[in-house]
Amino acid sequence: MLEIFRYLTSKSKILLIGFVLILAPIAIISYMSMQSVNQKAENLKLNYTGTIRLVRDKLENGILKLEENLYNQIAEYSSDQNTQEFQEWLGELEKKDSAFQYLFLVNNEMGLLSSMISSNWSNDNTRNNTEEKLLLHADFKKAEEAEFRQKNCVEAIRYYKRVLDTIKDNQGKAFVLARIGRCYYKSGNFEKGIVEYKKLLDIDNESNIGNVPTKVVALSQLSTGYSKINRNQQLMITNLQLYRYLIENSWDIFGGDYPFYLNSVTSEIQGQRKLYATNDSILEELDTLNNKKNKINNQIEFIKLLEQNLIPEIEAELNRKNLSETQKHKILKNDSESEIQIGYFWLPASFLSNDLIIMGYQFNENYLLSKQIPEMLSTVELGKDVLLGIIDKKDSLLFIQNGESITDYLVTENFKLLFESWKVAFFNKDGQTIEELVGKEKNLYRILIGGIILLMLIGLVVIIRAVIHESEMARIKSEFVSNVSHELKTPLALIRMFGETLDSGIVSDEKKRKEFYGIIRTESERLTHLINNVLDFSKMDTGRKKYNFVKADLVQVVRNSVEAYKFHIRENGFEITGEFPDESIMLNIDKDSISQSVLNLLSNAVKYSDKTKYIKIKVSKDETSAIISVSDKGIGIPKIEMKKIFEKFYRVSNEQVQESKGTGLGLTLTKQIVEAHDGEINVESEPGKGSRFTIKIPLLN
Ligand code: ATP
Ligand code: MG
Repeated sequence: MLEIFRYLTSKSKILLIGFVLILAPIAIISYMSMQSVNQKAENLKLNYTGTIRLVRDKLENGILKLEENLYNQIAEYSSDQNTQEFQEWLGELEKKDSAFQYLFLVNNEMGLLSSMISSNWSNDNTRNNTEEKLLLHADFKKAEEAEFRQKNCVEAIRYYKRVLDTIKDNQGKAFVLARIGRCYYKSGNFEKGIVEYKKLLDIDNESNIGNVPTKVVALSQLSTGYSKINRNQQLMITNLQLYRYLIENSWDIFGGDYPFYLNSVTSEIQGQRKLYATNDSILEELDTLNNKKNKINNQIEFIKLLEQNLIPEIEAELNRKNLSETQKHKILKNDSESEIQIGYFWLPASFLSNDLIIMGYQFNENYLLSKQIPEMLSTVELGKDVLLGIIDKKDSLLFIQNGESITDYLVTENFKLLFESWKVAFFNKDGQTIEELVGKEKNLYRILIGGIILLMLIGLVVIIRAVIHESEMARIKSEFVSNVSHELKTPLALIRMFGETLDSGIVSDEKKRKEFYGIIRTESERLTHLINNVLDFSKMDTGRKKYNFVKADLVQVVRNSVEAYKFHIRENGFEITGEFPDESIMLNIDKDSISQSVLNLLSNAVKYSDKTKYIKIKVSKDETSAIISVSDKGIGIPKIEMKKIFEKFYRVSNEQVQESKGTGLGLTLTKQIVEAHDGEINVESEPGKGSRFTIKIPLLN
């Protein structure tokens, strides 16, 4: 490779350096543009991420602010109202369309209280007291004996009534009245039983029978009685009353009694649906009650969740006496694995007078997504191509501005304090990702870089070829010079040697002297031929060669040429056969040039023959042309070289050729001469077997 540079002209060196100087910076610039596109994507991402964080913070702060408002509202609430009033107040608060639902309270015994239901809420112990007191009563004992042992209901009723007369408190009265009613029912006297249960209904709301509110016992027994004696109208009204009461007055939801009564009354109403269907206003009320029942069921589920997940934590915190002052958040997972976000806080100390310590709520996600978040976002300006949305863990869309349906987002950001499973997302209006946004530009640069690399490669190939060609030419030229000098040396030496011999006068034999003169003449002719070749070439190469066309006999011209060269041929041990036509072939030719061509072919035949030293020269003609052919049985020419041997300075690069000296000009000149005569030269050859060169010159018309 370095060899090549040695022969390079300064022009091609400059070309090469210029090429590198121009293309290298272009390549670097394209690479850098590519990098800058990547950087652009990165920057875009960074930019969006910065903005999306701000938006996320804004949303979170907005929601936290709502919580703060709620807290303030609670703090302002005067705590000297009783719990039930507070609970009702909460119920009102809950009814307002708000970001929070299922408000709940926790008391210092870890009881849970929501607007509709409660669990573990402290019961008073009146029940036990009443029963204990009554058991001391002699008549009560007798009554129980008659009712349970003797199964004598009439007797039992008599004793129960005596007990009733002595009782002052409502709790006790209710207890005994219920017994009387029961005994009537047992004896099949439903009418009278109903009268007793109606009395029970009139007793105040506070009392209980066992764990169950008196009202509930009375109404459910009345319902049984009416159904026994087929008083449908009353039955319907009573059931409705019971349902209404149960909905409005829940008690311990985990006790079992409340769910039992609620379920049995609703299934009974369901069973008698036809009864109710006659009256529109009743149907309407049933609908509201059913709705409320569903809400209660939801609250029951929610309270159960809190019991399992939140209460233990609060208890632990309470035990550590390390109450946090801030709002707290927690994610609860329900049976269906959906997540519920709750928030809670410690109530101000003033609420302790009502035993209340914690107030909490569930985030109303629907409300947040459909109202609160859109409202908060309405003031956020993101530019006209960007939309804001909220997506969940699985990347499904929960909310998006303008309600479009786009799935691919630009960037997302998790919520920091709230809603672990939500993410804020930016969307491009056309649903493109960042990659897609910069993709076009990237592709453009890719094509550009590809193009430049291709151009560089093509340019490089062209330059390398030119450089190789040039260095090859330079090598050939220097070889040419050494070959020419060598070719000049041999005939000159011969001429000098025979000249000196003759000059010294020692050759007395006339015949020998003639021979020596002949050698001097042919060698000087050969010298002339060689110099002519070189001069002609330089003339032809620069376009200065002039032909002297005259009408002449081609056969004669060829004959003379062979004659002139015969000595040299024989000298080299060749046998030469000539085949000439009898008549002449008159053509317009430059005699010297044609003779030079023939000599070139003969000289090649001598040079490129090995053991078989045979040359045949033939002149002939066909309809259109005169033909000169020179054949030998020499080394032959490989097929791929056959075209190249006519190029200037070209010599086949095998050992046999290199052994003999030559300038590589002979065939070039011959071809040019033949072409100047409107003719053509062809070669047939087979390596190792020999070659035949044929010159065709068109005949005169
Ligand atoms: P010069 O200028 O002295 O004639 P040259 O003989 O090398 O030099 P050309 O006559 O142009 O140059 O021939 C070109 C090449 O073609 C030769 O070097 C040789 O390799 C090949 N060649 C020509 N004639 C023959 C032949 N008769 N047999 C085999 N090879 C030949
Ligand atoms: Mg030659």
